Amino acid sequence: MSTSSERFIFEPSPEASAGSWAEDWQEIEKRAAADPLAYWEEQASELEWSQPWEAVLDDSNAPFYKWFVGGKTNIVTNAVDRHITGPHKNKLALIWESEDGKEVRTFSYFSLNRDVEKMANILKAMGVRKGDRVTIYLPRIPEVFFAMLACAKLGAVHSVVFAGFSSDALSSRIDDSESKLVITADGSWINGNVFPLKDIVDEAVKFSPTVENVIVVKRTGTEVHMDPTRDHWYHDLENLPIARGRCETVQVDAEDPLYILYTSGSTGKPKAILHTHGGYMVGTYTTLKNTFDIQEDDRFWCTADAGWVTGHSYLVYGPLLNGATTFMYEGGPTFPHPDRWWKLIEHYGITTFYTAPTAIRSLMRFGDAWATRHDLSSLRLIGSVGEPINPAAWHWFHSVVGGGKAPLMDTWWQTETGMFQITGVPSMPQKPGSAGRAVFGQVAEILDEHGNSVPDGQEGFLTLKNPWPAMARTLYNDEQRFVDTYWSTYPGRYMTGDAAKRDEDGYFWVIGRTDDVIKVSGHRLGTAEVEAAINSHSAVSESAAIGLPHEVKGNAIHSFVVLNQGYAGSRELTEELRAHVSSHLSPIAKPDEIEFVNTLPKTRSGKIMRRVLRARALGQDEGDLSTLEE
Ligand code: ATP
Ligand code: MG
Repeated sequence: MSTSSERFIFEPSPEASAGSWAEDWQEIEKRAAADPLAYWEEQASELEWSQPWEAVLDDSNAPFYKWFVGGKTNIVTNAVDRHITGPHKNKLALIWESEDGKEVRTFSYFSLNRDVEKMANILKAMGVRKGDRVTIYLPRIPEVFFAMLACAKLGAVHSVVFAGFSSDALSSRIDDSESKLVITADGSWINGNVFPLKDIVDEAVKFSPTVENVIVVKRTGTEVHMDPTRDHWYHDLENLPIARGRCETVQVDAEDPLYILYTSGSTGKPKAILHTHGGYMVGTYTTLKNTFDIQEDDRFWCTADAGWVTGHSYLVYGPLLNGATTFMYEGGPTFPHPDRWWKLIEHYGITTFYTAPTAIRSLMRFGDAWATRHDLSSLRLIGSVGEPINPAAWHWFHSVVGGGKAPLMDTWWQTETGMFQITGVPSMPQKPGSAGRAVFGQVAEILDEHGNSVPDGQEGFLTLKNPWPAMARTLYNDEQRFVDTYWSTYPGRYMTGDAAKRDEDGYFWVIGRTDDVIKVSGHRLGTAEVEAAINSHSAVSESAAIGLPHEVKGNAIHSFVVLNQGYAGSRELTEELRAHVSSHLSPIAKPDEIEFVNTLPKTRSGKIMRRVLRARALGQDEGDLSTLEE
């Protein structure tokens, strides 16, 4: 099944092909395909190691792969330390703006290091050692950088929990990781209101016996309860002698753990992914450099929260590893008006802007004028992650935000992969709706249920053939689930859990989760295809499609539709949308039912939770809802 947009190809402008991409990407692709380990070794050599590796890859105990075996380094050595002795010393590492726009904090690499050292000294004084786990439950404020980097610097393992999760979800994550320390704030700002983070931590740690200390950053000034034996204000600790002085970056083994992070929970109970220092460092460094073509004067803005893998890899670590300037904004995109993001891009001269389709669709709803009244011409590259970006959103993002000139880099990857797997580089032609090509050194293959390769253009299971440096090493405390979930369907291959097809040019089209595929009268339809067809109607902001059991057809398609501002649901519109899908996708894909809704159930990272819609429609148990957005 094909949508007309597949034939549209966006050829890169001469500027996109210039700069560091003057070299023909096809050559690099070929070279990396011929010898992936040599490619990764070359990339790793661009970074600092206190002891070189003996082997690039050890696959003797697959799927527990090891990278850069015998090598010693620390991700902080490369993300911070190496910059303060060179020409980046006074370069801005981080620019931050508060939700109300009244506060701006900037950090050169030199001053970022001072803050990281301070936090690390404090953690050390509280007994945090190599291998210890620390839970970070902080809003989007610079302290989240300090906390993550301070843990890594000491060789401690951070577990960042999105600061919006309930006390139950937080408590189970603290317990699961057996954290001895929690770093939080009194509260966070959400659209002008205070969200009581510390109260939630108080509730959570009641049931978490491993927690010895809680560090509290003052952010909202709200009244909180401080347990004198357990809780400490960060601004008090900062002024103690223990906080002062240099703090050495502990050199760790490449394979020592860096962090634990839970997946979004779109398809079930979140999984605790474990990443390590060496390979993750090389993978995030290289992929950001390639896809977003990092330049010396760039200002890179990734809108993801540090609570998700996108925030880990491409808000914090990737930009700093590349010595870039990263930007963080405390609030949401529509506060106080739907042009908040566009204002920030204009004001700070953001050159590279990386966000999610859910945000694009929600901003499109308000019309073009909010964006077009701002000068967004500083944008050189824009990017998307999290869900398939439907062609309507692609074109809006590309033309209205990117001015029709900035290449739009789609990036397919997962918490488990740590780094991009399917994407492009700016000099590659782009196809709206396709996530792009496998990254250099990777082979993605579409297989059927028996493990046979399917012909181009046909749907199947997206798998990854080659190991890659930033791959998850295991699920924390659950090796069996790691093997079962990703490595047992096709021995020796990574099973992504997504359904996709490859076209004859080697581009991949993700069409949804394998669990969500809808089977109508013997045809398999991806949720992304059905949703893209509905979303291409001018009345529609976004939609979710699910398959419900149907006696004759196997599945009946049920679509939940959120309309754009100024539209109302009606029987006529229902018929119009059904006809629209019929003509834009296929008569088979015509939804049996269309339900107009105000919102869709989403994870807190912004992904549609179709399993919840399905469970509700069938009157079944809704399963793990810990990551459901309120
Ligand atoms: P869980 O694994 O707990 O169900 P999740 O898969 O949503 O949650 P993440 O690791 O945050 O957790 O998301 C990875 C998934 O997001 C991918 O498997 C894919 O389905 C989707 N995804 C990410 N980026 C893209 C993209 N560019 N295009 C299409 N889908 C994407
Ligand atoms: Mg997943």
